Formats: sequence, structure tokens, C-alpha cells
Amino acid sequence: MMSKMDFSSKKAVQRQLAGEGLRPKKGLGQNFLTDESVLLDIVSAAELDEDSCVLEIGPGMGVLTRELAKTAGKVVAVEIDTTILPVLSKNLAEYDNVSVINQDILKVNLDQLFTEHFGDKPVKVIANLPYYITTPIVMKLLENSRISSIVIMIQREVARRLSAKAGSKDFGAITLAVQYRAEAQPVRDVPPEAFMPAPKVWSSVIRLVLRDKPPVEVIDEKHFFELVKGAFSCRRKTFVNSVGSYAALGTSKEEVKKILDALNISETVRGEALDMETYAKISNEMVKRKK
Ligand code: SAM
Repeated sequence: MMSKMDFSSKKAVQRQLAGEGLRPKKGLGQNFLTDESVLLDIVSAAELDEDSCVLEIGPGMGVLTRELAKTAGKVVAVEIDTTILPVLSKNLAEYDNVSVINQDILKVNLDQLFTEHFGDKPVKVIANLPYYITTPIVMKLLENSRISSIVIMIQREVARRLSAKAGSKDFGAITLAVQYRAEAQPVRDVPPEAFMPAPKVWSSVIRLVLRDKPPVEVIDEKHFFELVKGAFSCRRKTFVNSVGSYAALGTSKEEVKKILDALNISETVRGEALDMETYAKISNEMVKRKK
């Protein structure tokens, strides 16, 4: 019988893939985790117990899935790659609390999947994500009201953006979109050597705890998010120039200037210098003036 280390070592990954005539698929972001300390840190950050319902995205060969199955009540793992399923089911054979769904996570109806497998219980999402679709996956997860927390491995650069503070170089539209819905807590950085094959970039594990309600009061959420997009649409321009030339908002530069004046904000400020509360105030003022 294989030991745990054997199962997740680089040699074991290569041997198992070769056994099925497979190679890691770059196009599907297949970088398999081979560092046991990282696996354990992911599981520990997720704070699982025997009642936990877990959605794993991209189980691959199941190295993380096995750890989740040992601690959680039920695990549903969504994997797009049909060819890897024989290895995955071999590696999960000893666990009867895991269901594998062969689908594209971006096409899955999450509400339906959760109700079918977990009834009405809250869901924890845990994943070593395929990096080519990090942003659409994170945005899809944040829009789902059944999810209570998310622990994911993503590119370090993206993780820095998600947990950035206003005024820092990493602060952007995605920071505000994520922090409006969740509290972002960095867990740890992970070097390329922790994977087989090694990716070109460093990675980070990050925990997102979904908020019961947003941290700021916004009259019109759609407008708030358009304003955020508009403010970061031209990185090197001032807030007034970016927002005033962002057609979807339909507000002239002169009008944007007036609003900033009314709120005692400098006309030369850039979008990355304003925090979420200020974005909420500006958006609310713009909406009120349109009425
Ligand atoms: N969990 C494994 C591990 O930690 O070793 C594999 C992680 S690998 C970085 C990403 C996994 O996501 C791969 O197994 C890949 O096939 C899968 N994947 C890629 N695109 C996907 C999609 N759209 N939906 C579901 N799974 C996807």
C-alpha cells in the first residue's frame, strides 16, 4: 500500500499520469500540488469538521480531495478533464463521501448542485485553482449566497490584489469587487517547486470569508460596480478623467468634478487612492443627482 508521501510526491504524480498514458495539460492549468505542508495548510485554513459540505474545483488526481474527504462530511469535486477521471477515482476509492462531477465549473448551476448534494447547508469552497480562469471563478463564487468561505490557491500577484489596501499599487477594481462581498485573509505563499510541473509564477493561498452584508451602504449596486470599473478603466488617468470618459456611466467630467467638490475630494485624485467607503459615497451622490 502507498504511503501518503508516496501519493503526492513528484515521482508518484508522474508515475500515475504515465500509467494512464497522460501528461499534465497546460491549457487546463494542470499544476499538481506535491508539497504536503501546503496541503495541510489549505485544509487547516478551511476549518473543516464532520458536518462540513465542501465544493472542490479541479480535483485533478485527487491529492487535495483525499485530505478533504478525511475531515469533511461531504465533498463534491468538479473536474473538467475526462481523461484524468480513472486516476482520480482510483485515488478516491477508499472514500465514500466524495462525488465527482465531470463538468466545466463555469457552466455548473451552483445552486442546483448545492441543493442536490448538500440540502440547505452552507458550503465551503476549497481549490487549487486553474490559473487561466481565476477571476471568472472567483466572481462566480462571490455571487453565490450559499457559500460561507473560500480557501483557494491562486497566483501570488492576484492574491495580493484581492487583499490590497486603498493607496497601494495592488489596489484595483477586483480588490473592491471582492472586498465588497468578502473579507480577504492571506494564508501563505507557495513557491513554484511545490507543483508538478512547476508554474512560472509564485502562488498564494488566500481565504475569503463571505460577509452577511456589505461593509458600506450603496443605493444602487450596479452603479457602484460600474463606477469602480470606470475609475480603473484608464490606470494612468485621474479619477475625473477615467470616470468622466467612461460611457456606461453617462456622467460628464464637469459633473464628476462637481461631485468630488461637494464631497471635499481633490479633483486630481486617482482611482487607486480612494477607499471603498469613498466609492460608495461618490456612487450614492451620482445616483441621487440623476434622479
Ligand atoms: N487539485 C489538484 C492539485 O492540487 O494537485 C489539481 C489542481 S490544477 C492547478 C487545476 C485543476 O483544475 C486541473 O485538474 C484541471 O483539469 C482542472 N480544471 C481546469 N479548468 C477547469 C474547469 N473549467 N472546470 C473544472 N475543472 C477545471
